[in-house]
Amino acid sequence: MHTIDVAGVSIDTRHFVNGQRLTSPATYTNTSPIDGTFLGEIARGDADAVNAAVTAARAAFPAWSKLGPKKRGELLNKLADLVEANVETLGNIETLDNGALLRSHLRGVMPRVAMNIRFFADYAINDLHHDAFETRGHTNNITWDPSGVAALITPWNAPLMLATWKIGPALAAGDTVVLKPAEWTPLTASYFADLTKQAGIPDGVFNVVFGYGTEAGAALTAHTGVSRISFTGSVPTAKIIAHAAADNLTPVSFELGGKSPCIVMADADLDLAAEIAVEQYDNAGQVCLSGTRILVHESVADAFAEKFRDKVAALKQGDPRDPDTDIGPQVHQAHFDRIKGFVDRATADGQDILWGGGPNTELGGLYFQPTLVKNPAPGSEIVSAEIFGPVLCMQTFTTDNEVIAMANGTEFGLAAVVVSGDRDHAKRITDELVAGTIWVNCFFVRDLRAPFGGSKKSGIGRDGGTWSFDFYADVKNTVVSPNGWKD
Ligand code: NAD
Repeated sequence: MHTIDVAGVSIDTRHFVNGQRLTSPATYTNTSPIDGTFLGEIARGDADAVNAAVTAARAAFPAWSKLGPKKRGELLNKLADLVEANVETLGNIETLDNGALLRSHLRGVMPRVAMNIRFFADYAINDLHHDAFETRGHTNNITWDPSGVAALITPWNAPLMLATWKIGPALAAGDTVVLKPAEWTPLTASYFADLTKQAGIPDGVFNVVFGYGTEAGAALTAHTGVSRISFTGSVPTAKIIAHAAADNLTPVSFELGGKSPCIVMADADLDLAAEIAVEQYDNAGQVCLSGTRILVHESVADAFAEKFRDKVAALKQGDPRDPDTDIGPQVHQAHFDRIKGFVDRATADGQDILWGGGPNTELGGLYFQPTLVKNPAPGSEIVSAEIFGPVLCMQTFTTDNEVIAMANGTEFGLAAVVVSGDRDHAKRITDELVAGTIWVNCFFVRDLRAPFGGSKKSGIGRDGGTWSFDFYADVKNTVVSPNGWKD
């Protein structure tokens, strides 16, 4: 029995290697965070499975890389069409597997999966270009050549969406791929693999190995046959992968964690600020970009907190398949326990919990209440560490210099949010912030043409538009002399 029936479809639980399913001698158990239902036994990849996948990807590389952007684009657009035709199925699978809201998967996330594939396929055809330029009569011709096998390692908070940010540009660039999805959320990757086959993507171009990071992930990142490692996940794992990559000098792209500030200036529209603040609980707080440190000007702190509280009180927590639900469960018992640990330690320290503060006892299971810690002790764990749950901190400030120092005062630099009614004032603040993405009077506006990534410990490199191709491809300059021609 290598399939499980989920959301009305049959999902293969074996690896996907060279267009075939590969049985694993070992498996691990996958359950749904919604209610703990057993979902299935999943292939637990080891060095042999990884080696088979990398070997298949290497064998498929010459033909795929020579196909060119147009022919690849046709196949990738077919794949995007298939994703669009299966949005409902993919959304239902993902919700069962990671507990994120079904309504978000249907409205935004799964259509975005299709867009990730289509955007990079089309970008490689139409936009990946650098004008030739002259050096003393010589012409510099810049091209993006396929580089080989891209190893992609992804987290569980937006499994297929984040994977296709990598799969899209890697395949469009002419690389072949081995994906190792997060162990807690393997199912959409398996269904997606079937779609690649249906789309006519040649065997070996796209491969999936399931399993634990310390086993399958470690074998993949240490493999000498890999030409790129693209990783989204936590800082501690990135450090381990960086060591593995160093042995082979494999280039890495890292999208890592954050502890981003959400700054509410004295001149802010406080209704807008409260609206933006409550969005920081999206996906049950399991969003790398989340502005988890709310920094509010002292003069408006009470008025803001009151509006924010009203918004939080209106949030409905419950089953993520219910379209009225705003906050679902955490992804896994281990992650739930980790979040609870942070909050329990803050409570024991006497920190001021304004709302929430523990599990939702009515719902039980993995449902943790949206929580706000007021004026956490400077430097304390709750305000420095990435919690990756529905736990925010609120601190006050009085001067611009103070808020800039607070905003930049962590090891992270992924994102920042500024809410202000004064354009010049907002610009003075954003100019000083260290972050890969800053949103002013908005949150989560993302365009695939724009660079995305983290400063400081939040990452290495940028995704989006040409930045993605700069990583997955070998960028080449061919300098042609005006001399020596026989024509
Ligand atoms: P994680 O680092 O525990 O795991 C991520 C992936 O790495 C998983 O597939 C895991 O199996 C694999 N892995 C673990 N150990 C490994 C090893 N030794 N070698 C190779 N692979 C290994 O992270 P997570 O808990 O799955 O995800 C949450 C983290 O991801 C948070 O820190 C969050 O901020 C970050 N994240 C960042 C972004 C971004 O774009 N910056 C997006 C989403 C999540």
